[in-house]
Formats: sequence, structure tokens, C-alpha cells
Amino acid sequence: MRKRWISLLATGLLVAGFLTPASPAMAAPTFRVPFPCGQSWSGQTRSDHSPAYAVDFNRTDDLGDPVVASAPGTVDRVTNLGNTSYGKYVRINHGGGYSTYYAHLNGFNVSVGQTVGYGKVIGWVGSTGGSTGPHLHYEQRLNGSDIQVRFNGSLALYWGTKSYSSGNGCSSGAGSGTVDTSGTPLTVRSGPGTGYASVGTVADGAKVTIACQTSGTSVTGTYGTSTIWDRIGSGRFIADAYVYTGYDGYIPNVPRC
Ligand SMILES: [Zn+2]
Repeated sequence: MRKRWISLLATGLLVAGFLTPASPAMAAPTFRVPFPCGQSWSGQTRSDHSPAYAVDFNRTDDLGDPVVASAPGTVDRVTNLGNTSYGKYVRINHGGGYSTYYAHLNGFNVSVGQTVGYGKVIGWVGSTGGSTGPHLHYEQRLNGSDIQVRFNGSLALYWGTKSYSSGNGCSSGAGSGTVDTSGTPLTVRSGPGTGYASVGTVADGAKVTIACQTSGTSVTGTYGTSTIWDRIGSGRFIADAYVYTGYDGYIPNVPRC
């Protein structure tokens, strides 16, 4: 019985194989701009770039800015080529033959074999390798060949410079924290600074949802001195120096306001 069953199965597979048309190329992943949600970056393409379809991203004071995975996948290369070529770079395998490259990084935030999702910080913008100034060199490849970059299915500008706004990781971008003032209610401001109007208070120990973070006036609180302000609602900001978020500085994946 066992042999007969296997032989029938083999016949079935053969017929199926014969009748099934050649399978089309697997759909490309939905790639997003490789920076946190809400950020705008200038992306440049040029025909003398190597490889030709790569995009160089810049914005003001971008050295050390976080670079995020442009689609879910598995990190399969975290390499430092020293002072040549890509310098410090990360490659993510997205399946179906698709991969993305992030080059000239200042540092790494992932390791080989790690699974990443949209918005995951993989490293920071740098100027390593054969780079003359801080920028992110970004590539999309199919079966190892450089392909024209698409974000959300839309083709990047070839050739030229264009502003790209990131929608990467937006849905999972909210952070959370706990207010810690050692007793006194914390003043909520209409903007990111002590000069803005008071629009209420949050109690010591209250849990808050942080929609985005931005820089404002410097405040010294329970967790030291910080210029970071957390937006906890429309027109509602609190000083991050009084909020336990689990992170020094900005919370990874929470957008800047
Ligand atoms: Zn480049």
C-alpha cells in the first residue's frame, strides 16, 4: 500500500507540474523609506552611481540618525569593509530573491540572523568606506542584481533629487511611559517647552502613550536633564525628563513630531 500510494502521488505531481504554467516572479515586498515614520529625506539618483539604481539619502545634520529596515526580513550581512566601498553595511534578505543594502553606516544595531520588521533601527547614518560625507547609500536588489528602487510600489525618481517622506513603521510607532515626579502632578504644555501654556496635569505614576517625540526646552527631572518632549495628545506635551520610557534619549521607532 505504501509503495502504491507514493507512486500515485508522484504521478499526480507530474501531471500537476505539466499543467501548471511557469510560475510568475514572486511579488516584490512593499518597501518603505529606510528612515523612521514621518521623516523627510532628500534622495538622489545619478547615472554614474555604482550601482546605477542606488539612492543616496541626506538631510541636515544627518550623521548618527537612525536607519531602519525598509521591509520585514532577515539580516544576512553585517560587514565592515574598512575604508573602501560600502564601509560598514547591512544587508537584509526579504525572500523571493529580494534584498536591500544600507551602506556607509556609522554603527550597527543588528546582527546576522536577526529577524527585522518595518521601522526596526538597523544602524546609524555615517560616512564609512569610500564616502566623502555622511549619507545613507541604499539599494534594492533582485537575485543579486541592482533594481530600480520603489517605495510603496512607486518608482523613485530616475534621475535626480527628490524629497521622500517616510511612512515606515508608523502603525507601531507609539511608545509608552510612566510619569515619575515623586509626588507632584506633571504640567502638560501646549507645545514642547516650559514657555508654552499649561493645559493641564498628569498624575505621578500615570501611564502615558507617546505619539511622537521632539526637541524643546531643557528640563531637569527625575531622569536627569533632557531637551526631549513627549506628545501625549493633540497639543499636549510633557517633559521626557519626568517619564520612564526604558530609554535614554529618544525611544527607537517612535517618530519625531
Ligand atoms: Zn551611494
